[in-house]
Amino acid sequence: MKHVLVSGGSRGLGLAIIDDLLGAGWRVSTCSRDRTDALDALAGTHGDRLFWTRADLAEASAAQGVVAEAMQAAPPGMPLWGLVNNAGIAREGVLATFPEVEIERILETNLLSAFRLTRAALRTLLRQDAPGRVINISSIIGLRGFTGLSAYSASKAGLDGMTRAVAREVGRRGITVNSVAPGYLETEMSAGLGEAQRDQVVRRTPMGRLGTCDDVVPLVRFLLSEESGFITGQVIAVDGGGIS
Ligand code: NAP
Repeated sequence: MKHVLVSGGSRGLGLAIIDDLLGAGWRVSTCSRDRTDALDALAGTHGDRLFWTRADLAEASAAQGVVAEAMQAAPPGMPLWGLVNNAGIAREGVLATFPEVEIERILETNLLSAFRLTRAALRTLLRQDAPGRVINISSIIGLRGFTGLSAYSASKAGLDGMTRAVAREVGRRGITVNSVAPGYLETEMSAGLGEAQRDQVVRRTPMGRLGTCDDVVPLVRFLLSEESGFITGQVIAVDGGGIS
């Protein structure tokens, strides 16, 4: 059994990832600002292997506490195997009129929190002197840009940059670091897409549909597996062929 910390596991993609890992018999720690019925349902089935803590990752001090609590709650001596930086928010608005506070909130939640969680998790992984996995859930928007999503796009491009650099720092220790970059997924985050926007994304996607969490989870599972140990520093798109 391996222990993985997944940020933002209360719904959407994070929930799908932890559901999959728990189903495979792994131990999962997660955090979010609020608990959800879906998380309660998972805890009902896998309570002995699921740990949740309330945390607002936009606060600078939160990340270190989350990693410490996850390690304390795990059975004594159980090492940490991986971290999935999944928590994120999206807010739309053209940059010329986009409020400063929103830019800061997006960068704090999507980028700085991932830096802090990764740093705290790496300290644990390096101390263990054993292999491990870090996965950053970025976005195709970080690679291509999208009107009205400049701060979000920058936060995800920043994650991809961190992926490439940290992969070099820790590769010799057997720790891989990769980004998974989904296209638009059917989750609460994309529920705000207007019909016209949604049609446009579908029209421009070679596979002719929006993605689902089920399209992304298998790649996350593979990158967390021992078999993926020679793949690092990569940004892998799961976007149905690319939106333009
Ligand atoms: P979602 O349904 O909105 O879920 C986001 C998760 O992050 C929730 O568990 C949320 O819980 C948590 N979260 C948000 N802000 C947080 C904070 N300040 N502190 C702690 N937890 C926080 O989003 P999703 O669609 O599953 O997205 C998951 C990841 O995939 C994100 O990084 C997103 O950028 C990326 N992604 C999504 C899409 C898409 O179309 N949906 C496409 C590409 C990439 P609380 O709100 O309770 O805190």
